Amino acid sequence: MRIADKWFVRHSVDGGITLLVEQHIHPVFRCNIWVVEGRDGNMLVDSGMGVVSLRDEIQDFMDKPLTAVATHYHSDHVGSFHEFDERVIHQAEADFMSPYDFTVPLRVTEAYRDDFTGTGYTLDWDVLIDAVPYDGYDIESYAVPGAEPTRIVDDGDRIDLGDRNFEIIHLPGHSPGNLGLWEESTGILFTGDSIYDGPLLDNLDGSNVTDYITTMERLKKIPVSVVHGGHDPSFGHERLVELADAYITSRS
Ligand SMILES: [Zn+2]
Repeated sequence: MRIADKWFVRHSVDGGITLLVEQHIHPVFRCNIWVVEGRDGNMLVDSGMGVVSLRDEIQDFMDKPLTAVATHYHSDHVGSFHEFDERVIHQAEADFMSPYDFTVPLRVTEAYRDDFTGTGYTLDWDVLIDAVPYDGYDIESYAVPGAEPTRIVDDGDRIDLGDRNFEIIHLPGHSPGNLGLWEESTGILFTGDSIYDGPLLDNLDGSNVTDYITTMERLKKIPVSVVHGGHDPSFGHERLVELADAYITSRS
């Protein structure tokens, strides 16, 4: 396998936000990694697969205290969680983080490929990466290290960055403790895997369709200007309602 010359790609987003994506990860597992800059601190929303150090990549955002938030415990969102000093997760998933037993191996098995049949996703690679980070990288040794959360949050709690303030919104369904981060003053909402503009997954361990429908009803009522999801491109309120309604209809 070829050696990657550059692992992360950065995009500047409106509202003091930077998006990082891992270009050598299979699209199904390529989560959106967000950095939000505040006056007194920065916030990281999700940390990718952890094949390559995210902390090394975002040194320029470490000049202030950085709070790493996991929208949920799935391994494509918490791969580098352990690298950060401040680690936030919802209380429903706090026990899943240490030890961590949910690593998705990089080698794709037949059984694993079958799990995605009918979901709208195609797992068409033999390995979840199309390049290795360095010569001699051992694909089989990949595992997400465990890390105790340093702060366990629930609905209504807040992440304070000084001049910016994000409210935790509990959005279960995809996973039991998926959380959203809502900045009322700007209308920015981070949703993790509760909603994004692609096939939504509600057939995983810990998924719950009834909770998911309730989450969709709640999401529709939030007056967002923009939704930054766990995967795929961002979107506005009209698309949020469309996606939520499409899910509710599909499960009714
Ligand atoms: Zn997920």
